[in-house]
Amino acid sequence: MAKHHLPPLPSDADLRRLIHFSAGDGRIWLAGQRMVLIHAAALGALRKELMESVGPQQTRRYFTRAGFAAGERDAALARQIRGKSSLYDMFAVGPQLHMLEGAVQVTPLRFESDVQTGHFQGEFRWDHSWEAEVHKRDFGVQEVPVCWMLIGYASGYTSAFMGRPILYKETSCVGCGDGHCHIVGRPQEEWPDAEELASYFKPESLLSTIQDLQTQVESLRQEITPVDNKSALIGQSEAFKAAYELLRTAAPTQVTVLLAGETGVGKERFARALHALSSRADKPFVAINCAAIPHDLIESELFGAEKGAYTGSQANRAGRFERADGGTLFLDEIGELPLQAQAKLLRVIQEGEVERLGSTQSRKVDVRLVAATNQDMEQAVREGRFRADLYYRINVYPVLIPPLRERHDDIEPLAQSMLERFALLHNKPRPMLTDHAFDAMRNYAWPGNVRELENLVERAVILSKPNQAVDARDLFPGMTPPLGASVNPQGELVHRRASTMDCQSLLDQIQNCGEGLDGLERALLQEAVSRTKGNLSAAARLLGLTRAQLSYRLGSKPGREDPQP
Ligand SMILES: [Zn+2]
Repeated sequence: MAKHHLPPLPSDADLRRLIHFSAGDGRIWLAGQRMVLIHAAALGALRKELMESVGPQQTRRYFTRAGFAAGERDAALARQIRGKSSLYDMFAVGPQLHMLEGAVQVTPLRFESDVQTGHFQGEFRWDHSWEAEVHKRDFGVQEVPVCWMLIGYASGYTSAFMGRPILYKETSCVGCGDGHCHIVGRPQEEWPDAEELASYFKPESLLSTIQDLQTQVESLRQEITPVDNKSALIGQSEAFKAAYELLRTAAPTQVTVLLAGETGVGKERFARALHALSSRADKPFVAINCAAIPHDLIESELFGAEKGAYTGSQANRAGRFERADGGTLFLDEIGELPLQAQAKLLRVIQEGEVERLGSTQSRKVDVRLVAATNQDMEQAVREGRFRADLYYRINVYPVLIPPLRERHDDIEPLAQSMLERFALLHNKPRPMLTDHAFDAMRNYAWPGNVRELENLVERAVILSKPNQAVDARDLFPGMTPPLGASVNPQGELVHRRASTMDCQSLLDQIQNCGEGLDGLERALLQEAVSRTKGNLSAAARLLGLTRAQLSYRLGSKPGREDPQP
């Protein structure tokens, strides 16, 4: 049939009769299929949510596939209802149901079809597409057509009708600012961009994409770590040297090492250093943070999984044990490992073999284990959160990494090397730090340890201006001043002294008490003595005096009450 000479669509009365509202039991039927009357705005909200979380590409795929599934189902009705009509009228079931379902108004422009030879050419005009309407409302006028679910429907319907893949494309779309949408349908292989087009109709697991990316990130990270390693283990403090010596001694052996220490002390760096010092240095170093992976995924991450072993496992996957074969596996925050995974880990350590989830085949692995924790593991064992037998296997060679506040001498060299690293990373000149800045860093308690220092230095590098040294206030903006030091309004580091502000309030107090400077001094001395419960040496230290000076002042001030000795 040629273009523009298509007969009008047949009456849709036969289709309307198929729709039953069975409100009493909460169901709507289209022939034998359950339907749902849903707000276009609700689908719009879902679309918006998806666009923002997984992006347009993936959202388009989801909607296209959902539409395809609907079209396929409606195609089953065509022969059932109009089996005796002309091919054109039979085919028209799809466009007419699409209209009844409220998706879009369809006007056929071209219809050539031969079920025997599989020939198909179709062109339709679409008006009032719900999809173009909501998409344009939420995202504005688009460069590419947006009637994804509708295109999915047309493709699903026609493919099922013809018994071969027929795909549609929009050649104009209201979503792009056109007056109406226009679609063209052809057998898949006749499209020059068939492969790209077909990709929207195929399932693709976002989860496995993410997992693949994770693996890539990991191997990339491994590639850049040698540079990192040099700057990683910097230290000259006694506490550092003691820990490093333990590590160096363990490196050439196969002993399982347990790295303990507070959060942020750099356990992974120590683990990498151990690996680099060992005979496994040219084999993989694989790290996994047991606290960062959901409990239901940790086993497949560690031991691998066969396709279909759990929801979302779409392909056979090697676990970290297999990937670390011949090298070192670093299990960070091992105290967070769920009990079930602990039991499996114990078996792997004992037998030197892993079994992927969903598989009965054992694979030999040769892996050196390094574990790390910031927990009190003995307490975890007592509380039943960690298996005692696994703990004894792991706690063969514990190394305690000291917190940064016990490594005062390391702060400056660490900061210097971080400055260099971050300057390189952020493509900035390496900034200078003022002495005040270093002074403030030495006086700070570093509750977040090396990681906190790293964050601070990185921030300073990013904020640094050319030819301008980084000062204490750049490092500690909005923070409580480091112990024993503060930053004055000029940005200079001052050791705690009465500032201008304090003097003003002191002056006010002298005026208020009416006893002049002597009265204030007396009150201060008494407060110091009472706060130290009569310990004169301690009271003197508090006031910055010697004990003799304090005794003298206490003795020489008439009219005071005798302090407790
Ligand atoms: Zn459109």
